[in-house]
Amino acid sequence: MSNKNFPFRLGTFKCIVVSDGTHTYLHPIQIFVSVNTPRERLKQVLREHNLDLERWEQYISPYPSLVINTGQHLVLVDTGAGGLEPTTGKLIPNLQAEGIKPEDIDTVILTHGHPDHIGGNTNSEGRPAFPNARYIMWKDEWDFWTSEPKLTELDIPKHIKELLIIVARNNLLPIQHQLELLDHETEIVPGIQTVAAPGHTPGHMAVAITSDNEQLLCLSDAVLHQIHLKQLEWYTAVDFAPKQVVTTRRRLLDWAATEKALVHAFHFPLPGLGYVAQKGKAWQWEPIEMTG
Ligand SMILES: [Zn+2]
Repeated sequence: MSNKNFPFRLGTFKCIVVSDGTHTYLHPIQIFVSVNTPRERLKQVLREHNLDLERWEQYISPYPSLVINTGQHLVLVDTGAGGLEPTTGKLIPNLQAEGIKPEDIDTVILTHGHPDHIGGNTNSEGRPAFPNARYIMWKDEWDFWTSEPKLTELDIPKHIKELLIIVARNNLLPIQHQLELLDHETEIVPGIQTVAAPGHTPGHMAVAITSDNEQLLCLSDAVLHQIHLKQLEWYTAVDFAPKQVVTTRRRLLDWAATEKALVHAFHFPLPGLGYVAQKGKAWQWEPIEMTG
């Protein structure tokens, strides 16, 4: 299941959710749900989602990239975790299974600098894995990871912080000469627009894809669990700026519900596609089922 691809159409664009593999997280509550919620409240809300606070010990997260073939451009959103562990690094073979070679990709959009989104930027020799692509990233994000980030805001162990910084350096510096940095929302190729979505990281971005009046909003890590559509103010150990996270969620979820856009959420169960419905002052996730 975790290594399957999920092709779908958006207007005239051909899209595919392509798996890079999975990672097993041992602290699902802290990483994916909340670090700022009293235990009793957490227990109650988790129960509404059929989750048991005491027994939920791990979450196997998919690492899906998104491919968009516009007819003129072949665009990849995020590059997975690469060779970070044996269960990741399946992106290139899974692209090849769809008839796509790394050199065919002309644009790579990097939503943010975390290892599960940029770990496949480079190949095993440390060179750009997509040699003919321009890589697109928000300037604040690049500046953050290529300076001396301290990550004191994050409630995670020191060795994980160090890993985040090393993986960022190893996967960002080698793509410098293919890089284009953004400081405002931009139409990257016709029909594909970047959307500022700061909070999870300083220059985190979402992507809006439009073809023939159909829209897909790729949220990346603006939400990490469907609970965040209802509990907008719950943030996790890996969210850099909690207040911005809430503002970004409101904007993107309102956008998705109003425009009736198809939505992709990176860490949700595969394929991570669904719709967002307004429910009072919050929203609700309505996943679409697909067989890969
Ligand atoms: Zn992520």
